[in-house]
Amino acid sequence: MGPILSSLVNLQGVEGELRKTQKRLKQVQQIILRQQYQIKQYQDALAAKREEIKLTKMQHDKLELELRSREDEVTRYRLALNQARTNKDYSAILTRINTRKADKSKLEDQILALMGQIDTDQTACRELEASIEAENARLEEMRRQAGEKQKVIQRDLDELLQQRRESSDRVPHEQRALFERLAKRYDGEVLARVERSENRRSEQTCGGCFMSVPLEIVNSLMSRDDVLTCANCGRILVLDLNPKQQPTT
Ligand SMILES: [Zn+2]
Repeated sequence: MGPILSSLVNLQGVEGELRKTQKRLKQVQQIILRQQYQIKQYQDALAAKREEIKLTKMQHDKLELELRSREDEVTRYRLALNQARTNKDYSAILTRINTRKADKSKLEDQILALMGQIDTDQTACRELEASIEAENARLEEMRRQAGEKQKVIQRDLDELLQQRRESSDRVPHEQRALFERLAKRYDGEVLARVERSENRRSEQTCGGCFMSVPLEIVNSLMSRDDVLTCANCGRILVLDLNPKQQPTT
C-alpha cells in the first residue's frame, strides 16, 4: 500500500477512535440526564399529589360547612318542636328533623371518606419525598463519578484530536477534502475494505455497501497508490484496513 492510501487508512483509524471517544463522553452525560429526568418524574408526581390533597381539603371544608348548617337546622327545629301547637305541626317538624339527621349522617360518611383519602395521599407524598431525596443523593454521587470519568475521557479526546490533526496533515489536500466529506456522510467510516463475496468466492465486494467491485479496481489497488471509490456508495476502497507500512511523515 502506497503512502497516500496508508495515510488515509491511518486517518480512518484515528477518526474511528475519536468518534468512539466522543460517544463515550456523551454516554456519561446521558447517565446524568436520565437520572435528572427520573427525579423530575417524582417531582411532578409529588406536585400532582399535593394539588389533589388541596382539592380534597377544599371539598372536605365545603362538606363541613354543610354539616354545620344541618346541625344548626336540627337545633332550631328542636326548639320549634317544643313550641308546636298542634299534632300536625309537631309531626311536620319531626319529619324535618329526621330528614336533616339523615343528611347529617350522609355528610359525616362523606367527610370521613375524604379524610381517609387525604391520609392516603399524604402517605404517598411522604414516600415520594423520600424517593426524591434518595435519588438526589444518587445524582450527586453520579455527578462526582461522571466528573472523574469525563476528565479521563477528555484527556483521551485531546490526545486523539492532536493525532487527528497530525494524521490529516499527512493526507494530500485533495484526498483530505474527500475524506472529510465522506466522514460526514458515513459517520466517520470513510474507507471500505474490498472483501471476497460470501456467496460467490470469485466476486469481490465493497465492505461498506456489499456491492460488487470490478476486478480492474482490485488490480489497480494492488499495484498503484490510487484513491478509488466504490461506484455505489462512494467510500474509498482499500485492500487492507491494517497495513504494515506506516505512512511516510
Ligand atoms: Zn460501496
